[in-house]
Amino acid sequence: ETPVVAIVGRPNVGKSTLFNRLVGKRLALVDDRPGVTRDRREGDASLLGLDFRVVDTAGYEEDDPQTLPGRMRQQTEAAVAGADVALFMVDARAGILPLDEEISRWLRAGDTPVVLVANKAEGRAGEQGLLEALALGFGDAVALSAEHGEGVADLFQALRPHL
Ligand code: GDP
Ligand code: MG
Repeated sequence: ETPVVAIVGRPNVGKSTLFNRLVGKRLALVDDRPGVTRDRREGDASLLGLDFRVVDTAGYEEDDPQTLPGRMRQQTEAAVAGADVALFMVDARAGILPLDEEISRWLRAGDTPVVLVANKAEGRAGEQGLLEALALGFGDAVALSAEHGEGVADLFQALRPHL
């Protein structure tokens, strides 16, 4: 069975940018239930010859399931529970924010293995964020630039044991 990677993290860290890079033209939109799955995309990914299914998630800010953000959070939780590994993305330039810590606590309480990725790490602007990310307790973050395609080999090395 094809292994599954779920990309999680707070808004604007670059999850969809990585998703698009991994999936490219093989994108499949999942839109069976309007308002529930509309921001959950999945597709067949290929990374240096490693093939897996990747899920792009949206939303972890609101836990009231009566609201759209709350339903998005339920989708995110379901995606991570069903994945072989959670790719937990933070923004190396912005550093670690309270929502990153909240997501980190939630991931630690679950059973899905976590690979921590610090995106936007091109150049030197991400060095402080990489240090801060250590405090999340998932070890060294993989330094990545989803936009510029840097760190892809390190991402491969980090994911491979889980797939
Ligand atoms: P998401 O909300 O986590 O899905 O984030 P997006 O993929 O939509 O990206 C949010 C913003 O970050 C966009 O303006 C991207 O162009 C930018 N971004 C994504 N990856 C990188 C990166 O590696 N470096 C930099 N500098 N910006 C990035
Ligand atoms: Mg997105």
